[in-house]
Amino acid sequence: MIDFTLTEEQEMFRKAAQEFAETQVAPKVPEMEETGKVSLELVKAMAEAEMMALTIPEEYGGLGLGYTARLIALEEISKVSVAAGMMLQVFALGIEPILKYGTDAQKKKFLPGLATGERLASTAVTEATGGSDPTGIRSTYKKDGEDYILNGRKCFITNAHIADTITVLAKDDENPKAFSTFIMEKGMDGFKATHEENKVGMRGCNTGELAYENCRVPKENLVGVEGKGLGVALAAIGDVGRGGMVGCALGLQAACLDVSVKFANERILYGKPISRLQTIQNKLADMKIDLEAGRLLGYRAASMQDKGERSSNEFAVAKYFSTEAAQRAAKMASDIHGGYGCMEEYAVSRYMRDSFVLGPSAGTSDIMKVIIARWTLS
Ligand SMILES: Cc1cc2nc3c(=O)[nH]c(=O)nc-3n(C[C@H](O)[C@H](O)[C@H](O)COP(=O)(O)OP(=O)(O)OC[C@H]3O[C@@H](n4cnc5c(N)ncnc54)[C@H](O)[C@@H]3O)c2cc1C
Repeated sequence: MIDFTLTEEQEMFRKAAQEFAETQVAPKVPEMEETGKVSLELVKAMAEAEMMALTIPEEYGGLGLGYTARLIALEEISKVSVAAGMMLQVFALGIEPILKYGTDAQKKKFLPGLATGERLASTAVTEATGGSDPTGIRSTYKKDGEDYILNGRKCFITNAHIADTITVLAKDDENPKAFSTFIMEKGMDGFKATHEENKVGMRGCNTGELAYENCRVPKENLVGVEGKGLGVALAAIGDVGRGGMVGCALGLQAACLDVSVKFANERILYGKPISRLQTIQNKLADMKIDLEAGRLLGYRAASMQDKGERSSNEFAVAKYFSTEAAQRAAKMASDIHGGYGCMEEYAVSRYMRDSFVLGPSAGTSDIMKVIIARWTLS
């Protein structure tokens, strides 16, 4: 027997996350949209609500609720603001390499602060020369006594300007086939956040560049085995990065459906609500089918992740499906709204912009298909 129901505890958690989204996130959305800047008050509220602590075990000050709970939180928060969901998703992505590959000392040093939000995490892999192909990165490290010296630049990094604990991938300057992951901390000499992007969507979620010039990183900050860092970074992106994007996409799909149902019931044409028109009903049904299917794919993968099973292939399917479906949903929602769908006062115009930003993050749809095809052929 397969049980598709959430536990009572998970249902209660969904209600709490929904309330958090409606009371703490929703009021911040207009300012985030207008300025494109992170709301630090929102980050503080997330910390107080222990949203950063979900995946961190209790022994390190976390809640130890796991990845299904994380997916629930991301779905509920992204229903209100995909930007807020994205910010939260990358906090957990940055924490994951320490959780999975960190030493006891690293866990004790970093996790308690990350659980309370005193520290904020991110992960930095992408560079101008390597996004889909991380082996194309040019950041380097070299050994210097007990330390490493890092040089390079990262781009498109979520939380770049607010995070202070960032897992960074670099390659050995003498062996371009060897990669290592390091925990870099803001305040290290030569390490700084530079350019801030101005995105079309997910406004209020910070994306930017990081630069490190002759930055000295102690050996205690190496994550996992030297030379095996590509596996560390990709494992976190495969399960937690993709899983997080599924949460963001499911929230956006649900939001598109909610506003469409409301509008279709209220908009009167030919003397009756447009929800009576077959064409409108077809769009609503398509959105509902996509949302149901996306949830089944996403929650199946998260429940595998909670059992400690490898879930990166299942998340590749879920990420491909739900982010593409979110784009379809935003287009259909906009169509249902007619001319109103093009107006800033209506949330659908934001949904449309946000939906396009979902695609590349944590791997493009093309890359998801590469992974899924490899899985299929294996
Ligand atoms: C909002 C946002 C947040 C992000 N946050 C982070 C972050 O926190 N940390 C981080 O490290 N990165 C982050 N990224 C970067 C993201 O992971 C990359 O943008 C993504 O991996 C694609 O890389 P690229 O932009 O260099 O595109 P490219 O890799 O240059 O791709 C260009 C095109 O080629 C296609 N392509 C590439 N390879 C193949 C292939 N093998 N087969 C078929 N088609 C292919 C792609 O699908 C795409 O259409 C973020 C990006 C965005 C937009």
